[in-house]
Amino acid sequence: MIPQRFEYSAPKTLDEALGLLAEGAKPLAGGMSLIPMMKLRLAAPEHLVDLGRIKDLSYIREQGGSIHIGATATHHDVESSALLRGKCPLLAETASHIGDVQVRNMGTIGGSVAHADPSADYPAALQALEAKLVLKGVKSERTVSAEEFFVDTFTTALEPGEIVREVIVPVDGDGTGTSYQKVLQPASGFAIVGIAARVRKSGEKITLVRIGVTGLANRAFRATAAEKSLEGKTGSAAEVQAAAAVVAQGVEANSDLHASADYRKHLAVVYAVKALNAALSRIA
Ligand SMILES: Cc1cc2nc3c(=O)[nH]c(=O)nc-3n(C[C@H](O)[C@H](O)[C@H](O)COP(=O)(O)OP(=O)(O)OC[C@H]3O[C@@H](n4cnc5c(N)ncnc54)[C@H](O)[C@@H]3O)c2cc1C
Repeated sequence: MIPQRFEYSAPKTLDEALGLLAEGAKPLAGGMSLIPMMKLRLAAPEHLVDLGRIKDLSYIREQGGSIHIGATATHHDVESSALLRGKCPLLAETASHIGDVQVRNMGTIGGSVAHADPSADYPAALQALEAKLVLKGVKSERTVSAEEFFVDTFTTALEPGEIVREVIVPVDGDGTGTSYQKVLQPASGFAIVGIAARVRKSGEKITLVRIGVTGLANRAFRATAAEKSLEGKTGSAAEVQAAAAVVAQGVEANSDLHASADYRKHLAVVYAVKALNAALSRIA
């Protein structure tokens, strides 16, 4: 279908873009989610502000012990970044699982998180990484955690007129291993269930476990009961299995034509075992 008529602006500065957004315009990034929604008339914004021409909004740089990723960095930028591959491989690995080459070339990290699809891949990794998101409005800037940011299905902590300006992820030192494991919906590539695991060891003992889950529920979340179950252990097969067994405990699971709630919960357990084992095997 053809979208409803709309005005289009392509400002070159962030301030100009934020001024237009404060007047009620809607941001356009890669257009991979927004344009199909407009074509289906599920969205009908009157004014689109293209963020793609804004200079210096697609950076990936290390600063103060963290990696800062500008909102318009594409999934391909994230997947292929030597900095991320070396110092935050979980995010690069997760980006490599998104859709197909065309989607990864056009879609952006800012657009993906702002869209907050409950089956999107980044949110699982951002939960496991305890990432921060910098939200900018015309007169304000605030930083929120991934936990605070993802509120519900297609719902985030963004206020009207605000954009996601950047995503901040930690640099993990030696002793940490990560992995993202996903069961994909074959037509779109979206996660039926996706598990991001981040595990740190000191000697034989596990000192930190973070598990981000996507696809299972209304929003990506941290499986804290499973994390606690594994912390302080050595990571034996039985301990990993016991931790994974509680990943979906108490969760109101999604159900659709691709997977029932019970099947999703089963997949979450199986893929949590895979993700935890892979993360443990990658500890340098
Ligand atoms: C065929 C196909 C397969 C896909 N497969 C997957 C997959 O396997 N896994 C996955 O995770 N995703 C998948 N996607 C979604 C893809 O990752 C999109 O790139 C992403 O959801 C939206 O990013 P975008 O840059 O295209 O944003 P857009 O479509 O331009 O915008 C999406 C929404 O975010 C808003 N927005 C954009 N940028 C910002 C910003 N910086 N701040 C605030 N609001 C903003 C827009 O106003 C809009 O509401 C798929 C998409 C398609 C078309």
